[in-house]
Amino acid sequence: MSASEVPCPSCGFACRVESLQHLSGSQLGCADCVYRHKEAKRDRIVQAPGAAGCLVFLAGAATALLGVVGLNLKVLLWIDAWGADTGWLIRGALCASGIALLGVSVALGKVLPKPERPPGMAPPPIAD
Ligand SMILES: [Zn+2]
Repeated sequence: MSASEVPCPSCGFACRVESLQHLSGSQLGCADCVYRHKEAKRDRIVQAPGAAGCLVFLAGAATALLGVVGLNLKVLLWIDAWGADTGWLIRGALCASGIALLGVSVALGKVLPKPERPPGMAPPPIAD
């Protein structure tokens, strides 16, 4: 650690004083921490609709599978309140909405820019 370097308040690695930036609120971090913070925030935004979509699709698929044998999930009993045809329409809509939300997730992943990796930062480990 040279004279102009300090330990990063977030990760503890030596970094240049002038490279410290605000992460969130008053917390400071080095360029690498800011990059990781931005990357994690982007990942959360991209993955949230996909996770919700999986749940909605699974609920639709589960109630459809159970509906075939004349059963239903307790939380989805209301589905058949307007008749069997409407119930199947709602089951289909649940599956379709789940797939649509997954599509939103994929689209966000393509549209939202990835944060720029700071120069000198070690590349991520290569997955096998
Ligand atoms: Zn850091």
